[in-house]
Amino acid sequence: MTTTYAVLSEGLQKRYGEVHALRGLDLAVPEGSVCGVLGPNGAGKTTAVRVLTTLVRPDAGSARVAGHDVVRDPAGVRKRIAVTGQYASVDGDLTGAENLRLFARLLRAPRARADELLERFGLTAAAGRPARTYSGGMRRRLDLAASLLVPPRVLFLDEPTTGLDPHSRNGIWDAVRGLASEGTTVLLTTQYLEEADQLADDIVLIDEGRAAQRGTPAELKALVGSYAEVVVADPAALVAAAAVLDRLTGSAPVLDAERRTVGAVTTDGTLTLPRLVREIDAAGVLIVDASLRPPTLDEVFLRLTGRKELVP
Ligand code: ATP
Repeated sequence: MTTTYAVLSEGLQKRYGEVHALRGLDLAVPEGSVCGVLGPNGAGKTTAVRVLTTLVRPDAGSARVAGHDVVRDPAGVRKRIAVTGQYASVDGDLTGAENLRLFARLLRAPRARADELLERFGLTAAAGRPARTYSGGMRRRLDLAASLLVPPRVLFLDEPTTGLDPHSRNGIWDAVRGLASEGTTVLLTTQYLEEADQLADDIVLIDEGRAAQRGTPAELKALVGSYAEVVVADPAALVAAAAVLDRLTGSAPVLDAERRTVGAVTTDGTLTLPRLVREIDAAGVLIVDASLRPPTLDEVFLRLTGRKELVP
């Protein structure tokens, strides 16, 4: 079976004066998948989204979105995408229902679609209230609903849950999962690694305008290895335990005096829990607990972007 890509870019470059925001970005997002785009501040994520949504012209390279070239056929791209993010476009003085019906008229979408989306995003009960009375999560859901009045082939979600509480975040996550299960391709930029872990089929780590690393969340975690952590009886012994972890794992240990823990990522597949405990014990440190677990995406991210040696 051949894969169809909803977003395909090759060698995208964009300069702002002296700043190389994109230095040859390659992306390949299969149709119907959720791609999480992560990267430190200034990595080029927003610029990439701006190029792919035809707001900014690349200096070099090419990109096709929903089968249309972003430079040669920007109108073709725009017709097939929706963009939504942290800056809700809803009008606070109109009710939720009025907002959606207004957008539906502007976009020539059926009014029934507006009502269906209100229902789907759990906004039916609040549909008659001015949007300014909505919580942050409800506003984002309304904004997301507005962008789906005409079902897009590709949905660009720019930091959709920034600033939301965990409950509201879950609501948005459910909505994104629902869209993905119906086959909408989603390109999600986020600062929250847990969000990417929850939603993304594939993750692209952008660093200095290039894709520094890509893979499924599990593949990226496997690249980093495991996270070894020990709890010691006496916080004064943390430094001695850290020295052993440093030697065994080769990565900088993280100390937490309050939890009396020290931990480090390890790419050494031969590091076993008994060996870790034995060597810390031999250093005269009393251990209360020890564990070796898969790393979180946060730890992967820190390792891959904060310490350059793993980035090709
Ligand atoms: P953040 O996570 O902080 O939003 P980002 O990964 O989205 O960062 P971009 O906003 O794409 O990164 O910025 C990449 C680089 O390009 C940065 O150094 C930024 O200062 C620069 N840049 C972006 N837009 C402009 C612009 N309009 N004019 C000048 N420089 C810009």
